[in-house]
Amino acid sequence: MSESFDPVGKEMNSSTAANEAWLRFAAEQGVRVSPEAFVDRSLGEFICNPSVRQLWDSVLNRVRSTNKPITFSVRCDSPECRRFMEIDVSPQDDGQLLFANRLIREEPRTVPSALDPYSCRTEDIVVVCSVCSKIRTGEETWMEAEGAVSTLGLMDRDVQPVLSHGLCRSCLAQFEVEMT
Ligand SMILES: [Zn+2]
Repeated sequence: MSESFDPVGKEMNSSTAANEAWLRFAAEQGVRVSPEAFVDRSLGEFICNPSVRQLWDSVLNRVRSTNKPITFSVRCDSPECRRFMEIDVSPQDDGQLLFANRLIREEPRTVPSALDPYSCRTEDIVVVCSVCSKIRTGEETWMEAEGAVSTLGLMDRDVQPVLSHGLCRSCLAQFEVEMT
């Protein structure tokens, strides 16, 4: 495992532990969670989206069955910036899996108010990729938030659509490549 990765948590069987660095990172994202929240809970319980949970399951099973680490790219955006990160999942001698992440780069951005999760919503749904945060603007097209907001005309609406999470084609393809 690369030295510059920050260990963030471990998983063994069904119990997960997060360390100080992870909790600090979560707090920076506005997520308030205590270390006790992880005791006797599996990683999957913290992932609401079924397709993302399934991807994580395959990553963890893969690491366990091959006993080799896997590194993959994720976007972990905060309200003010785009964060390009890598997550490393590596098997430990004691049977636990060690999760570590590394910030590759950060880009400041202005958040379109249309994507503010606390604003009012209509019944229609806008799909956001859980990995890269791009937004689906058509059957096969995904765009960065700023472009998607104007393409979908979100700025012109008084009430915003519901945000749902999914996986864009390229992130799905990337996962498939990384898993082979
Ligand atoms: Zn994506």
